[in-house]
Amino acid sequence: MHILKLAKAFGVTLGLMAVFAVAPAGAQVADTSLIAKEATQWLADLIRINTTNPPGNEAEAAKYIAGILKRDGIPSEILELAPGRSAVVARLASSAMADPTRALLLVAHMDVVGVDRAKWTVDPFAAVQKDGYLYGRGAVDDKGMLAANLAAFVALKRMNMRLGRDVIFLATCDEEQGGDASIKELAAKYWNKIAAGYALNEGGNVYLKNGKVFYVAVQASEKVSVDVAVTAKGRSFHASQPTPDNAVVHLASAVGKIGEYSAPAQPTTIVLRYFEEMARIEETETAKWMRALDTPDRAEHAQRYLSRQSPLWNSMLRDSIAPTILSAGVRVNVIPAEARAELNIRLLPGNSVQALIAELTKLVNDPQVKFEVLGDAGVPAPSSKLDNDFYTLIEKASGEQFPGAPVLPYLSTWATDSAQLRLRNVQAYGLVPFPLEEEDIRRMHGEDERIPVASFAQGVQFLYRIVSEFAAAK
Ligand SMILES: [Zn+2]
Repeated sequence: MHILKLAKAFGVTLGLMAVFAVAPAGAQVADTSLIAKEATQWLADLIRINTTNPPGNEAEAAKYIAGILKRDGIPSEILELAPGRSAVVARLASSAMADPTRALLLVAHMDVVGVDRAKWTVDPFAAVQKDGYLYGRGAVDDKGMLAANLAAFVALKRMNMRLGRDVIFLATCDEEQGGDASIKELAAKYWNKIAAGYALNEGGNVYLKNGKVFYVAVQASEKVSVDVAVTAKGRSFHASQPTPDNAVVHLASAVGKIGEYSAPAQPTTIVLRYFEEMARIEETETAKWMRALDTPDRAEHAQRYLSRQSPLWNSMLRDSIAPTILSAGVRVNVIPAEARAELNIRLLPGNSVQALIAELTKLVNDPQVKFEVLGDAGVPAPSSKLDNDFYTLIEKASGEQFPGAPVLPYLSTWATDSAQLRLRNVQAYGLVPFPLEEEDIRRMHGEDERIPVASFAQGVQFLYRIVSEFAAAK
């Protein structure tokens, strides 16, 4: 389809470095292997710029990215959010008066989580390549996605394709800590520069099992994290004369009850669809219960069965509560006046923490015990839709790239930057487009994070398929 355009775009202006070959007959996507090779180098360079957060220091990575864009004649802007902490934004405009609600935003963060150097077998900031892998902190999360977004964006420009909507590239900072330089601040200050109707971000995965793509998970919604303190109060007294109002005992009893409590299952549309698609590749017994989740008579059994199978599934089906911190007492011979626990609660989108606390208050049934919501509760953003053109296109592109692997819409149990976008009516979807084995998925935030170089190239092609098809003028 693009042979002529390709020849024009690359043969003359860019020379060998940027030449695309054309995919074999049938496939409608340009061969992106050469730009993937270039982008592997960008990824290695980005890994070598240490953006461990805190402190982040994303400004240097931002400058590097602006340089890559400039080489391809794409102007970009560096937006400073705090000293040393900048985001980069660039736009391929479809027309002077383009409708921002049609625009597609490609998002990735430049900061990375810290490393425990002693546990790494390679230097985490050297971008070592061996045995077909590129190693380094951020190789997947999220510099891998960042480099792939950059590749898809630059490729669109090189294609000189007529666009039916604006495509915006955004490299963000402060995702891992979410402080003063986070997407929340960025959106508050610079929304006019990044306003879009659709977005691709991290948050999903292409799950590889024994070398074969098993499924493609696309994050379309996320749970909301809220911390709650549980405090028991009693009399402080000498431990030699125990009293029945001992705060430690009351708190322990409350935490015990909370630990055994399971909030009612409330499968959302996205979760039902997730299980429906997953049923196509699961073993018979599990698949049977996945399909039963949406039946009136067997739903309850299905919920119990699936919740027992996996902590992830359990958490996708209901509000979850995890007691994580306990504190009470300073001397072993004094009964303290107060004992306190902290709970990390993950609410399904739309659920209220106050309603859950009312339920827990009834369950604990102890006037000495009080609940209190701590700090900044996460934002309850709406879910992205599964019936719009963009999601349908992601499904189609996935089928072409990874034939036979179902696309699972996903409710992540953790938070991503997409919540801030969904709050502004953006239909945001989470990918991470690289086929990865379980083991490599686990290495994110852990030791010896790495990406198979071949998977990176496949991810670039997958992303380019989606972006080019969605952006092309019809
Ligand atoms: Zn990330």
